[in-house]
Amino acid sequence: MTQQLDDHWFTEVFDSHGSAFSLKISEKLLDVQSPYQHLEVYATQTYGNLMVLDGCVMLTDRDNFLYHEMMSHPALFTHADPRRVVIIGGGDCGTLREVLKHPGVEKVTQIDIDEEVTKASERFFPALTSSNDDPRAELLFEDGVKWIDTAPAESVDIIIIDSTDPVGPAEGLFKVDFLAKCHRLLRSGGVMVQQSESPLYHSTTIIRELRADMRKAGFDSVATLPFPQPVYPSGWWSATLAGKGMDVNVFREDAAARADLALDYYSVELHRGALVLPPFMRHQLAD
Ligand code: SAM
Repeated sequence: MTQQLDDHWFTEVFDSHGSAFSLKISEKLLDVQSPYQHLEVYATQTYGNLMVLDGCVMLTDRDNFLYHEMMSHPALFTHADPRRVVIIGGGDCGTLREVLKHPGVEKVTQIDIDEEVTKASERFFPALTSSNDDPRAELLFEDGVKWIDTAPAESVDIIIIDSTDPVGPAEGLFKVDFLAKCHRLLRSGGVMVQQSESPLYHSTTIIRELRADMRKAGFDSVATLPFPQPVYPSGWWSATLAGKGMDVNVFREDAAARADLALDYYSVELHRGALVLPPFMRHQLAD
């Protein structure tokens, strides 16, 4: 992915897919080189603020709810009784905010490698960090690949991998040995969910390999849930769930229907629909 700028447009070019995505910008608000990545924030004309890491669009004010709700609520309504949640990555804190909407959750530990992302989010996306002072939230800034080595086995109900693409610092978060460590960290009945890129561009590569690796890592079931995400490559994204001793293709429909969590995308009907893969994905992801 490369980035192009002129006076009015930010463009992310997806060279290997022969496509690009542009937003009209009014101002550059931040430009920081952290020890891990190049972080930029822009004000756009119609999508609110835009965060970019290493030239890749991370989120905008206007459409981040799609991603953050689908990275959290399907997993939380799939687990029978989620109390202890770990988020690896997620430094903008949008996923953390969604998880904390669940009253039964007792503790959420978020491990992002880069504190600059959270500082930028606090400054330029304050709605996303509005739950950071919830006493159930713990924010750590370290490499999730290292953190998981010393985390106690069978101590967590849900693990959410809200990472950048599988290159650079996030590469290790997609490897089978890391997935096996997630499996070890989960209690029986546990669920992990990983952002798994574009159904259109990555069903025969990243998503297929991730699903196979989740099984190799010991998970008993997998489910890939597609959802729209206009600012990501192809405009379409996915979350892949994996279950330890449980089936992630069924969820607590009654609880999801009864919950009153002030959501803008997720609903019980939407969750049901997201579990139905279009034929091309069924074919490309078949074992
Ligand atoms: N929604 C975004 C997407 O799909 O592109 C991801 C958003 S979130 C900002 C991604 C976060 O993953 C970043 O804050 C980055 O610092 C973090 N990250 C990348 N590699 C990591 C690692 N090894 N351990 C912990 N966090 C990591």
